[in-house]
Amino acid sequence: MTVSIALFTQDLRLHDNPVLRAAADAADEVVPLFVLDPAVAAVGFAPPNRSAFLADCLTDLDASLRPLGGRLVLRGGPVAAETARLAAEVDAVSVHVAAGVSGFAHRREQALRERLGERLRVHDGSLTVAVPGAVTPEGKDHYAVFTPYFRAWQQTPRRTLHRVPRVLRTPDGIASEPVPVATPDSPGLPPGGESAGRRRWQAYPLEQYGDLHDDLAADGTSRLSPYLHFGCLSAAELVAAAERRGGSGAEAFVRQLVWRDFHHQVLAARPEAAHRDYRPRGDRWLPDDEECEAWRQGRTGFPLVDAGMRQLAEEGWMHNRARLVTASFLAKTLYKDWRIGARHFLDLLVDGDLANNQLNWQWVAGTGTDTRPNRVLSPLAQADRLDPDGAYVRRWVPELAGLAGRAAHRPWRLDPPPAGYPAPIVDPDAVSARLRHARGLG
Ligand code: FAD
Repeated sequence: MTVSIALFTQDLRLHDNPVLRAAADAADEVVPLFVLDPAVAAVGFAPPNRSAFLADCLTDLDASLRPLGGRLVLRGGPVAAETARLAAEVDAVSVHVAAGVSGFAHRREQALRERLGERLRVHDGSLTVAVPGAVTPEGKDHYAVFTPYFRAWQQTPRRTLHRVPRVLRTPDGIASEPVPVATPDSPGLPPGGESAGRRRWQAYPLEQYGDLHDDLAADGTSRLSPYLHFGCLSAAELVAAAERRGGSGAEAFVRQLVWRDFHHQVLAARPEAAHRDYRPRGDRWLPDDEECEAWRQGRTGFPLVDAGMRQLAEEGWMHNRARLVTASFLAKTLYKDWRIGARHFLDLLVDGDLANNQLNWQWVAGTGTDTRPNRVLSPLAQADRLDPDGAYVRRWVPELAGLAGRAAHRPWRLDPPPAGYPAPIVDPDAVSARLRHARGLG
């Protein structure tokens, strides 16, 4: 009997999983393995919300493997050492893992290669639709602007989707640790796992996406981001399904998944962009202080900003448009280092993702790939456009629940102002002043 190992990372699914497929084809028996590496928690990447979601994912994966004849083996410790130990234990002919894009993933792959040599097989095409580095402009290693990337992406041939293996036998007698229990920070966290992700996708009315995805109160986006982050769903499978359905909703949805691919190919080429300015502009950001704390608490006195920050605390998730507004407020209006905001998002977001979070933050801060780096999103103009009736603000800011329509966006105009709600921490008429001054824009 030959044995292979499928080392799960950000691909916690059975459907369209190149790693699992290859491991199943390579040997008579497969050990599906997940390693809880303390190094991930040590760098603050396993906060309670994502740990709780991950626990659901692992439980679900094990339950889905059982009817095929397999089960999930869970180990704790440094990922390369634990994988090599198990490979020796079962005399594995090969160990299969997905290619990643972060510095951590690169180091993990290197450490695995040092220990496993030729037995390590790294598989592309698991995390994104287009392989990072496969769609590039002439003479460069990645695209730095979205629109030309999108055009090139559309011309790229797709790989074939993988079926779930019909049988997947795991050898007996391999020790496994229990799935750790984690209590989330956010009471409204969604359930994790491939089964929950597939149910959500199947029930999602994709045709409405084009009309509703910018409407904050309608909450009409897919909310698939945590399932995509943990790989409970395959982006390639979603794109194929959306293209089959067709229509303007499907087109707009696929475009957002291309943004995901775009940020992943930037991070794969520039892993340091997770922490350093992608395009430094000589910014001298203001330090973390009570303004940042008011932002984190959702008490800036700007209702749309506060609504977004409170949604984040409550659900571990925030609507994309609210992410843009809250991030612009911190980085551009308050002129605080984008890393302060990105850290807070990563601490709470259930979809917290190094590529998507850091590079969207950089885009907003004007140090990233935005071709208009000095744009400032006015929280008031955005509120009138994205929440014209004030319903999103009333949902998340109970102090303003009694204000009708757009009055909810300008509580400082009321006399007396609503009880318990703070006055604006900066002059609402001067939201772009600090950035303009700092960047010498007059
Ligand atoms: P939908 O609108 O239904 O889109 C479908 C999928 O497309 C999403 O699930 C996501 O995987 C992808 N997508 C959509 N918009 C973007 C985008 N702008 N960039 C990259 N991928 C996108 N997304 C994360 O997955 N993790 C993060 O940590 C994250 N941090 C962000 C921080 C800031 C400051 C901003 C502005 C955006 C961030 N995003 C992040 C992108 C986006 O806000 C979320 O992906 C989206 O809100 C998730 O909701 P949804 O699944 O309903 O998205």
